[in-house]
Amino acid sequence: MYGLKTDWSKKDNDRYFTLDDYTSLKARWCPGCGDHAVLAALQKLCRDEQLPPEKTVCVSGIGCSSRFPHYMKTYGFHGLHGRALPVAEGVRSRRPDLHVFVATGDGDCCSIGAGHWIHAIRYNMNMTVMLFDNNVYGLTKAQTSPTSPKGMKTNTHPNGSLMDPIDPIQTTLSVTNVSFVAQTVDWNPVHVYATLKAAHEHKGLSFVRIMQRCPHYTPGMWDGYIKDPMTVLMMKHDKGINADNLDRMFKNTIAHDPSDLDAARKLAARRDILPIGLYYQDASVDCYDEHSAVGVGMPRANRLEALRNELDRYRI
Ligand code: SF4
Repeated sequence: MYGLKTDWSKKDNDRYFTLDDYTSLKARWCPGCGDHAVLAALQKLCRDEQLPPEKTVCVSGIGCSSRFPHYMKTYGFHGLHGRALPVAEGVRSRRPDLHVFVATGDGDCCSIGAGHWIHAIRYNMNMTVMLFDNNVYGLTKAQTSPTSPKGMKTNTHPNGSLMDPIDPIQTTLSVTNVSFVAQTVDWNPVHVYATLKAAHEHKGLSFVRIMQRCPHYTPGMWDGYIKDPMTVLMMKHDKGINADNLDRMFKNTIAHDPSDLDAARKLAARRDILPIGLYYQDASVDCYDEHSAVGVGMPRANRLEALRNELDRYRI
């Protein structure tokens, strides 16, 4: 979004994008923050897929991870708290030619943005949604978030969070028209990359929950999984998340067909282990952006005339 150095005279096929074409400001996240790994994975994906920067948009709400668009040298929109998804839907509905990525945190998406989250899943517009889940409000200095574990001490609950957390995967899998749900961990760049790649290739809304380290406010939150990879359960299938060497990194695996929604929900309910990979995918679900694309290719003058005619319907 800053200092785009694009040669507009060249056709897409004559250009080759390097990582530098997607790299903007130096990221101001804390050292060791998991957001750095996701940013690197998305920049690499954009480079590998040769997504034209001027055809790529990153949209976010408010929170640490929502600084994401500033660090991508693409178009970007750093929006209001909880409102990343409606902004992204607006972009998508009128510009189906753009690649849309959404960065949202557990507070942003699962609390103030929860209504938008549910309906965005149902509308199933073509975009990749990255939920950075660090179990805390980091930007506002350690407040309890909807995914904070019960008993976790925060500035808003110094004696420990009182309620059981919401589970973003179980919630998403329960919404009408859900079409792609995956989970990954920021400390494994191969898996993050493979997951974002599969999400981007999916037609419809891809929801990716990323277990994200916040060494500043939730240090050690994921240490159990990091130190003992056998506590992570990798879902395996030909149609799942696949990459070289994943089997070597995650030896605890389970065969899971991502077209089986009931099996996905059962896996999502497990608390004894952390499943990663593709829970569910159905590329045949209706996409609202396709049904509502009326007028998208219309010349400007015709669009204005159509708008005037539409407004005339309400004339008193
Ligand atoms: Fe990352 Fe936590 Fe620092 Fe925010 S406070 S930048 S989430 S480590």
